[in-house]
Amino acid sequence: MPFQAEYIWIDGVKPTPTLRSKTKVMADDEKISVWGFDGSSTEQAGGESSDCVLRPVFSCPDPIRGGKNILVLCDVLQAKDDSPHPTNTRAALAEQAKKYADQEMIYGIEQEYTMLRLDGTPFGFPAPQGPYYCGVGAGRVVGREIIEEHTQACIDAGLMISGTNAEVMPGQWEFQIGPADALTCSDHMYVARWLLQRIAEDYDVVISFAAKPMKGDWNGAGAHTNFSTKAMRNDTNLKAITAACEALSKRVMEHVDHYGDDIASRLTGKHETAPYNKFSYGVSDRGASVRIPWQVGRDGKGYAEDRRPNANVDPYTVTRLILETVCGAA
Ligand code: ADP
Ligand code: MN
Ligand code: MN
Ligand code: MN
Repeated sequence: MPFQAEYIWIDGVKPTPTLRSKTKVMADDEKISVWGFDGSSTEQAGGESSDCVLRPVFSCPDPIRGGKNILVLCDVLQAKDDSPHPTNTRAALAEQAKKYADQEMIYGIEQEYTMLRLDGTPFGFPAPQGPYYCGVGAGRVVGREIIEEHTQACIDAGLMISGTNAEVMPGQWEFQIGPADALTCSDHMYVARWLLQRIAEDYDVVISFAAKPMKGDWNGAGAHTNFSTKAMRNDTNLKAITAACEALSKRVMEHVDHYGDDIASRLTGKHETAPYNKFSYGVSDRGASVRIPWQVGRDGKGYAEDRRPNANVDPYTVTRLILETVCGAA
């Protein structure tokens, strides 16, 4: 019996790329292979030589179609010489991951997002902030059926989803992927984002990864990035963890400039954030750029949480930057 392979890739839309996918019907015994698409329709090529190459990098069962059907995440290559396309941020991460493999960095990313109606207004609006975070009950949370379906879909696909929760603003939720190495965590994150948008389609709900979907006195949406090297996990008295924070403090804008569009609107110093251009770190401090969880502070070892990345950050880029800065200084 033939089956379907959904090829997923990241386009060239600025300032925040979006996910694209198309379906290949595969013969019963067919193996996954490279494919192509029209880059002139995804802001990845001019009209004259528009072909781009899709190179499969990760595949898993398709939990929506079920059966033998699969999802195939790809990165994008240039047809002229099979080199990584300028929009391909995964290739650069793969290089750094190899370079620093001996430090065994792992990540857990907390993906926040906001549900919007088709007219662009957030689900559950207008209402004051307060009862929503980890809330239960009608009028306190909206959209739970989507979360339930998405979480089970991620599990069925074999993704490393580690939890979900309702967030501070109505219609805002979070799921976490990890802990896993940079490439695995990022690949799984993209497939999980695709599944979320695909499932929400059936409910006429738009999933927004915007950093500050509602201007004013509302929480933004982030992608807190938790990380640890082997040295941090085996630390004593937070020595390696402090060294990692010190390394981050020396390259503030190199990170923040690539932590997602509209970051200055979100990292204001209010709403559990630190100002985007002022670096700070501390144990249990949700107002710091980097938080060392209280348990880690007590044990003297573990991991740290970079709270700065936006919900619309590219996971390949944030994990690469942390590798370069933290592992490069170790
Ligand atoms: P928060 O308290 O900030 O809301 P969450 O529970 O949402 O934290 O997310 C914590 C994330 O940290 C999870 O994705 C988890 O997998 C990840 N994590 C746990 N331990 C480590 C570790 N040693 N290194 C990297 N990430 C880790
Ligand atoms: Mn969280
Ligand atoms: Mn959160
Ligand atoms: Mn967090």
